[in-house]
Amino acid sequence: MSETGFCPELSDDVREVRDWVHEFARTVVRPAGAEWDEREETPWPVIQEAAKIGLYSLDFFAQQWFEPSGLGLIVAFEELFWGDAGIGLSIVGTGLAAAALSASGTPEQIGQWLPQMFGTPDDVKLGAFCASEPDAGSDVGAIRTRAVYDEASGDWILNGVKTWATNGGIADVHVVVASVDPSLGTRGQASFVVPPGTPGLSMGQKFKKHGIRASHTAEVVLDNVRLPGSCLLGGKEKLDARLARVRQGGRSGEQAALRTFETTRPSVAAMAVGIARAAFEYARDYAREREQFGRKIGENQAIAFLLADMATRVDVARLMTWRAAWMARNGRTFDQAEGSMCKLVAGETAVWVTEQAIQILGGAGYTREHPVERFHRDAKIYTIFEGTSEIQRLIIGRAVTGLPVR
Ligand SMILES: Cc1cc2nc3c(=O)[nH]c(=O)nc-3n(C[C@H](O)[C@H](O)[C@H](O)COP(=O)(O)OP(=O)(O)OC[C@H]3O[C@@H](n4cnc5c(N)ncnc54)[C@H](O)[C@@H]3O)c2cc1C
Repeated sequence: MSETGFCPELSDDVREVRDWVHEFARTVVRPAGAEWDEREETPWPVIQEAAKIGLYSLDFFAQQWFEPSGLGLIVAFEELFWGDAGIGLSIVGTGLAAAALSASGTPEQIGQWLPQMFGTPDDVKLGAFCASEPDAGSDVGAIRTRAVYDEASGDWILNGVKTWATNGGIADVHVVVASVDPSLGTRGQASFVVPPGTPGLSMGQKFKKHGIRASHTAEVVLDNVRLPGSCLLGGKEKLDARLARVRQGGRSGEQAALRTFETTRPSVAAMAVGIARAAFEYARDYAREREQFGRKIGENQAIAFLLADMATRVDVARLMTWRAAWMARNGRTFDQAEGSMCKLVAGETAVWVTEQAIQILGGAGYTREHPVERFHRDAKIYTIFEGTSEIQRLIIGRAVTGLPVR
């Protein structure tokens, strides 16, 4: 627990991480962005390069997750997504599954499955987190995938269809949220690890998307997937005790999917900050060079004021993100839904700033000759996944009013 309070001055260690990731983003990720966006395929060679330098590795994620200020992973994500968001998500998508495993798993389960999600530099693996379903997006309580316990064998049998899963079907380890008791909504859910090669898990439709096109998004079909009892995250004893508490009308802090999203919001916000900053910098540099009416377009107040607002809003989003990350790392509770606040502001900032960047480049910005149209397409997902902007406002609205806002 830090005694010093929140400080936006980065430590030497965090600054070193930031500069190291920036260099990889500048030299490897940014130059590859347009190609993988067009190909709409997982950029395996780039992930492998990230693994070779230790950026895509369990060690890096664990070290930065436990970094004392809470800002290690946050600055790394901003830099990586400054490079390219589609490739960035391909590199860090496993992190969501890792966070889900870490949030609900026992130390033994974490020790067993985390390394298998990342693999090794010579044999890279991926993880996928599967909560969303065709009829359960914002409303995670409506999850229909069922997990039924087989008393005779001690196994769990999962059936259902997951959708929108990042790395779904191409991951080695899937973390799946399923309902054990549908009458209890989110409180009747549990998370399961589906080990590599488990029969019954298959990839459904792969989606063609508006942005982050290098990142793989697909349906995951679970057809009589049989899992040993050890694959229930947290174990059966804990689950039974929790369900008993809930059935007796007691409160239960355990809501598998919701808990995962809460802890990962600042890192998702940091991705959006990276995209917004990339767009601001690109538009600023263009405005310094491009001439119309015999002067730089940046000399017009209309453009300079726009750039002033873009820079200001990027800083606001970053500071709110850093505050939430510091709070999460230092055991502060999000009493005003500060995690949701940073995700909301960063997502909407990224959409707004990237759109203004297109405006500043004019016709050039609307073409694929420049990356700002891609930045804009990539930014839009940040008002949608890990809780839409409306859902963030719902959470913040409830926190600040204390009312059951719906
Ligand atoms: C590229 C991509 C990657 C994704 N990756 C993953 C992943 O790895 N794992 C995973 O589990 N999921 C993932 N998702 C799913 C994502 O989290 C959901 O898309 C998101 O939660 C919204 O759900 P929905 O798409 O069903 O929209 P809906 O829930 O159908 O929402 C539609 C609209 O209605 C609004 N709305 C809904 N309820 C309310 C309300 N109560 N009040 C006000 N407005 C409301 C929403 O804000 C939205 O504008 C991903 C999605 C995409 C597109």
